[in-house]
Amino acid sequence: MENKKEMRTWLDDFHLPHPLVIAGPCSAETENQVLQIARELQDSKVSIFRAGIWKPRTRPGGFEGVGEIGLKWLQKAKAETGLLMAVEVATAAHVKLALEHDIDVLWIGARTTVNPFAVQEIADALQNTEKIVLVKNPVNPDLALWIGGVERLYHAGIKKLGVIHRGFSTYEKTKYRNNPEWQIAIDFQSKFPDIPLIIDPSHITGKRDMIFQVTQQALDFNYDGMIIETHCDPDNAWSDAAQQVTPERLKQIIFDLVIRKEDDADGDYLQQLSKLRVKIDDYDSKLLDVIGQRMKVAEDIGALKKAKNVAVLQNKRWNEILERMVKEGSQRGLSEEFIVQFFKAIHQESIAHQEKVFKSE
Ligand code: PEP
Ligand code: MN
Repeated sequence: MENKKEMRTWLDDFHLPHPLVIAGPCSAETENQVLQIARELQDSKVSIFRAGIWKPRTRPGGFEGVGEIGLKWLQKAKAETGLLMAVEVATAAHVKLALEHDIDVLWIGARTTVNPFAVQEIADALQNTEKIVLVKNPVNPDLALWIGGVERLYHAGIKKLGVIHRGFSTYEKTKYRNNPEWQIAIDFQSKFPDIPLIIDPSHITGKRDMIFQVTQQALDFNYDGMIIETHCDPDNAWSDAAQQVTPERLKQIIFDLVIRKEDDADGDYLQQLSKLRVKIDDYDSKLLDVIGQRMKVAEDIGALKKAKNVAVLQNKRWNEILERMVKEGSQRGLSEEFIVQFFKAIHQESIAHQEKVFKSE
């Protein structure tokens, strides 16, 4: 897929402002809920209303969406508010129903992008459509799979394309629900600067308090827009309650965001700098995550030693670790002096954690 200017023109065709704002509930729940949220978003900076009708849940038993009836509610909301309507589609049958109900924007969810068969089925069902289609990144950190999804749609004659960065699954818990791995989205943007890139801070953070910060970061990287889950009664939402914000809060977030000028004289430098700083911040958070996890393992070892009445400090083991780390560090260009200092500090903290377990009842 070459980089095609025509892929961004839909932003102009629909007179969509910068940054593009998509908002609405994680899931359509009732007709009233849909209409109430849409009304509150009317006459704001929001251009597109989102609502999940078919919900892909990781485990069975959760709310799996209201299905086709929800499309009727969206039609009503559109007629009343003039907002464009967006839903997630995962199968050809979803596409058919969405088209029949005049939905304007279809997005492909992260659990669907991972599956080339599913994406191809959707692309075939959408053949040459004029609809806007947005592709979320796959749940796993795989840039090629994301690009492949977009290519399948492009080859099916779909030209109004965009991508949504919603973060990536990790096995270990981090401060994010889905780790942003900014570098992957930025690589996508560098390869395809003409495909609009939209941040999904709701699914990245999983927490409403972190939404502003992640959205600002994305704008600093020159993203084209945002998709933010919005609900009149977030705490009682039927899905993703912790990450949804009220329409009022959304408006405040949008108001507080600093929109960067793309072609400012110093814009390039500042953008480069902020991209590099985010990389550093990303690595620092990962370092803390890993060190925190290491300390938990140290505590487990402490518990084990306590049960067997073995001393906390075992010098032989520690000397072996240090020797190995100095060797592995030098392969990564890290000085012996640094490695020794760093691991001494880690070792001390580990012992403190083990001792804590020893002293506890
Ligand atoms: C959603 O947007 O509600 C959703 C299910 O997102 P994702 O595919 O990113 O998990
Ligand atoms: Mn959701």
